[in-house]
Amino acid sequence: MKLHEYQAKEIFRKWGVPTPEGAVAFNGAEAIQIAKGLKAEKYVVKAQIHAGGRGKAGGVKLVDSPEGARTATEELIGRRLVTHQTGPEGKEVHKVLVEAASSIKQELYMGVLIDRNLNRPVIIASGEGGMEIEEVASQFPDKIYKEWVDPLVGFRPFQGMKLGFKLGFDASMSRKLTAFLTKLVKLFEGVDASLCEINPLIITDEDEFLALDAKLTLDDNGLSRHPDLAELRDITEEDPLEVEASKYNLNYIKLDGNIGCMVNGAGLAMATMDMIKFSGAEPANFLDVGGGASAEMVENAFRILMSDKKVKAVLINIFGGILRCDTLATGVVEAAKKVHVDRPIIIRLEGTNVEEGRRILNESGLNFQVAEGMGEASKKIVSIVHSFE
Ligand code: GDP
Ligand code: MN
Repeated sequence: MKLHEYQAKEIFRKWGVPTPEGAVAFNGAEAIQIAKGLKAEKYVVKAQIHAGGRGKAGGVKLVDSPEGARTATEELIGRRLVTHQTGPEGKEVHKVLVEAASSIKQELYMGVLIDRNLNRPVIIASGEGGMEIEEVASQFPDKIYKEWVDPLVGFRPFQGMKLGFKLGFDASMSRKLTAFLTKLVKLFEGVDASLCEINPLIITDEDEFLALDAKLTLDDNGLSRHPDLAELRDITEEDPLEVEASKYNLNYIKLDGNIGCMVNGAGLAMATMDMIKFSGAEPANFLDVGGGASAEMVENAFRILMSDKKVKAVLINIFGGILRCDTLATGVVEAAKKVHVDRPIIIRLEGTNVEEGRRILNESGLNFQVAEGMGEASKKIVSIVHSFE
């Protein structure tokens, strides 16, 4: 689950990670009140959307009065911000963060994430903050420094000193960095984060570290341990079909292609997407209805697939295990009674109760084609969507 910058910074404050003073505003009047309450000469107004790259897109405004904070807020709210992370359609700004501006002596990059190969958090640091870190990583990989956190021993001070020296700091600054990182890693583990990125982490004129930007993503599987954090979810930032799917516990991710996929099991879903791509087309979504899906879940999944206008044809690929083929067939038939099915469907069924599943589908009057095996299924569906082009 992604959080907004203002939410991440509130969590930072709670865990003692230094960040500028500020608060969220939904309109100009709120912005001016917040700015007046800050001890500052200058203010920053920042668009709150689930995407980075706002600075370059005009979503971060530096102003020198509370009145200026109001104007900047009114300019930003309601605007569609297009950054290199939003896609061409952009994201609408509903709220801004009003902050006391900071003096910047140096900008760094600091990130903590899970290294899935080594099964532990990794701290990624670079002196080239503010710039696009992806570019630094690909062009100057030797300017990126990493320290891995042992899950049993935790983050050790020597690791902070090591990073500090690599970044060119003296002992005193390296000790300050160590104190900063100790808190940051505690926070990362404490909230069950999967990503915590600070770009830029700045050094102020007073030689203090300050998280000027904050991106925090929480591990969905850890949310049951943090009901207070689960409430921070902002569904206006998410894809409406993904929000709908999450209501029914469907693992659905919308993609850019035009073949709708309904599969049970994440592994089979990945393999199905691979087969579609291998056959020369693009999946419209990842959808794992789950091993133990009910007919009702299948029905909802089918409705969600059909409401995606980009979908030109649907591939249903089910291996009947715990989810039996007849349950799947019943769900699809029920759904087809309610939603208008105006696009071709290819079904490949195998496993428990496959005969019964095929019978239900055959007697349903639904217009679909049966494929034998995954290879045939993906070839058939790809030739159908290509025939539309
Ligand atoms: P992003 O572009 O979405 O990553 O947004 P950031 O929060 O990183 O802000 C973009 C840039 O705005 C930063 O790299 C800074 O250069 C600048 N900026 C943000 N806040 C301040 C501030 O308080 N003072 C100054 N001088 N610049 C700031
Ligand atoms: Mn940033």
